[in-house]
Amino acid sequence: MATANGSAAPSINGKAYPIVDHKYDVVVVGAGGAGLRATLGCAQAGLKTACISKVFPTRSHTVAAQGGVAASLANMGPDTWQWHMFDTVKGSDWLGDQDAIEYLCRNAPEAVYELEHFGGPFSRTEDGRIYQRPFGGMTTEFGEGPPAQRTCAAADRTGHAMLHTLYGQSLRHSAEFFIEYFALDLMMGPDGTCHGVMALNMEDGTIHRFQAKKTVLATGGYGRAYFSCTSAHTCTGDGNAMVLRAGLPLEDMEFVQFHPTGIYGAGVLITEGSRGEGGYLTNSQGERFMERYAPHAKDLASRDVVSRSMTIEIREGRGVGKDKDHIFLHLDHLDPKILAERLPGITESAKIFAGVDLRRQPIPVIPTVHYNMGGIPTNYQGEARLARGGDPNTFVPGLMAIGEAASVSVHGANRLGSNSLIDLVVFGRAAGMRAAETTDKSAALPSLPKDVADLALSRLDRFRHAKGGTPTSALRLKMQRIMQTNCAVFRDGPILKEGVQKIGELWKESEDVRISDRSLIWNSDLIETLEYDNLIGQAAVTVTAAENRQESRGAHAREDFTKRDDQNWMKHTLTWADYATKTVRIEYRPVHTYTMTDEVKYVEPKARSY
Ligand SMILES: Cc1cc2nc3c(=O)[nH]c(=O)nc-3n(C[C@H](O)[C@H](O)[C@H](O)COP(=O)(O)OP(=O)(O)OC[C@H]3O[C@@H](n4cnc5c(N)ncnc54)[C@H](O)[C@@H]3O)c2cc1C
Repeated sequence: MATANGSAAPSINGKAYPIVDHKYDVVVVGAGGAGLRATLGCAQAGLKTACISKVFPTRSHTVAAQGGVAASLANMGPDTWQWHMFDTVKGSDWLGDQDAIEYLCRNAPEAVYELEHFGGPFSRTEDGRIYQRPFGGMTTEFGEGPPAQRTCAAADRTGHAMLHTLYGQSLRHSAEFFIEYFALDLMMGPDGTCHGVMALNMEDGTIHRFQAKKTVLATGGYGRAYFSCTSAHTCTGDGNAMVLRAGLPLEDMEFVQFHPTGIYGAGVLITEGSRGEGGYLTNSQGERFMERYAPHAKDLASRDVVSRSMTIEIREGRGVGKDKDHIFLHLDHLDPKILAERLPGITESAKIFAGVDLRRQPIPVIPTVHYNMGGIPTNYQGEARLARGGDPNTFVPGLMAIGEAASVSVHGANRLGSNSLIDLVVFGRAAGMRAAETTDKSAALPSLPKDVADLALSRLDRFRHAKGGTPTSALRLKMQRIMQTNCAVFRDGPILKEGVQKIGELWKESEDVRISDRSLIWNSDLIETLEYDNLIGQAAVTVTAAENRQESRGAHAREDFTKRDDQNWMKHTLTWADYATKTVRIEYRPVHTYTMTDEVKYVEPKARSY
C-alpha cells in the first residue's frame, strides 16, 4: 500500500502500517493550558501549527484546576513581582533557577491581563478588577509581611475558564487540531535532531507522521504513577517517556508534590483556595495543629510543610476517623454566601465524593499526589536542554517542552499553589515567541531520515500483539502501590532502596504483559498499555533519583537525612533510562544562582520556615 507521500508503507514484523503524512512548521503535543497557549502564539505568528491531543482540548487536566493563577496585580493589597519571586525561590527550597523565576514573576501580570483580554471570565472585586485570593507560601515584604492576595481566580473553576478561553482563541487564529490522536514517539534523526512525532488516530486506527521544524511537548504530569492522586486518568507523562526513549534525560524527578487536601478515599482535590478563604485543619482532638508547625503562616504554609505536618499528626495517633488515618478540613464556619460564590465546585465535590455538606460538616482529607516538579529540562524559552553529548547548555535541535511536562526550573523542589497555571501561560507564550523567532516559515522541510518512524511502529506493534501472562491493569496497580508505599511524603533509605529494587523487577516483569484486543480502533486496552509503559519508566527514574538524593529539600523529605545540604546537593538531578537493561543513570546540572537582570537581587539561601 502507498502512503500519502507516495512511499511504501513501512513493514513491521511482516505487517504493513500505512502512514498518513503531515507537514507543519510547529507541532504541539498537548492541548492543556501550556499546549494551547503555545499553539495560539505560534498560529498568531503565522506559523503553520498543528496541536495533537489524546482528549478533547477542554478535557485536559488543566480543566480541573480550581484555585487560581498567581500574578502580582496588587488589586487587593500591596504586591510586587519581586515579592512573588522571593516567595517562589523560597518555595522551591533554593532548587529553582533564579533567572527563570525572575522571568516567570516579572511576566506574570501581563500574561494574566492577556487572558483577561482574550475573554477569560475572572471573578471580580467590587470595583470591577480581577479578584485575588491568598494562597499558601504567597507573602508580602519578602516573607516578612502578611499573606499576599496574589492568586487570580474565576470562582473555583479557574483552569476551566482558561482552557475555554485559549481554545477559542487558537481556533480564531486557524491552528489545526488533531483531537483524540495519541502521540506514540518522537522522530529523532541519527544526529539527534527532532523531526516531529508519530501518532495513532484512536478513532479509525490510522497512523500519522507529523513532520515539523519544531516539536513542542506539552503533555502534562504523571500523577498516575501513584495509587492516590488528584490528577486525571490521562496524566501519564507520555511526553516525558518519549524523551526517555529518545535517550534524553529528565530532571528533578524525585520531587513529587503531595497536596494536603485530597478527599479521603477518592483523591479528588479540595483547592488550597478553601484555606485561602479561611478554612482550617484539625486533628482528632479538635486542635488546629498547623499553629504548632507554622506559627506564622499556619494553614497557609506551603504544601510540603502542611502535608508533612498532617502525616506526623496521623502517625502520632491524632488522625480522625475509625482508623485514625485522615484529617478534617473545616469550612463550616464560613458564610454560606462566600461558599456559594467563591467555592461552588468544591461544595459539589464534597457532597459527591465524601457525602459531606460542607456548610455543616468538616471534609475528611489526606495528602495526595498532585504535581510533578520534575520533567524535561528546558531554558525559559522552552528549548529542551542536553543534546546528545551531555552539556546542559546545549539544546536538542527541534525539540521544546512546556507546562507540567517541563522542568524550567521555576518550581525547584516544591511548587507553590497557583504557580503552575501562571507557568503554563508565561512559558507557553515564551515558547511561541521563541518558535516564531527561530523557525524559517519559507524553508522547505528536510527529507526525513530513513527508519525515523520505526521506534514508534515497532513499539506499537509489540504491545498490540503482546501475548504474555499478566494483564496491564495488574502491572499498573502493582506499580502504583509500590510508589505510594516506597516513595511517599516521608522517605527513608531502606524503604527507598526496596522501592528501587521492586520497581526494577516490575519493569522487567512488564515484558510479560498481555493485551486481549488486537484492533487499532478505540482499543483502550492498547492505549492503557502504552500509557503504563510510559509510567513505569518514569516511576523508575523517580524512585532511583529519590534514593540517590541524600538530603531533605522541598517535597523530598528523608528521615535519614533530615537537613537540606546546600554544599553537596544544591544541584538538579538528571536521569537517563536504559530500556534494554532497565536501569537508570544519574548526572547533575548546576542550579542557576544568578538573576536575569540587575532589577532584582539573587535570593541568598537560608533556612525555610513559615
Ligand atoms: C485537580 C487539580 C487542581 C489544580 N489546581 C491548580 C490551581 O488552582 N492552580 C495552579 O496553578 N495549578 C493547579 N493544578 C496544577 C495544574 O493544573 C497543572 O499542573 C496544569 O494544568 C498542567 O497543564 P499542562 O498544560 O502542562 O498539561 P495538561 O493540562 O495535563 O494537558 C496535557 C495535554 O497533553 C495531551 N497529551 C498527553 N499525552 C498525550 C499523547 N500521548 N498524545 C496526545 N496528547 C497527549 C492531553 O490530551 C492534554 O491535552 C491543579 C492540578 C490538579 C490535578
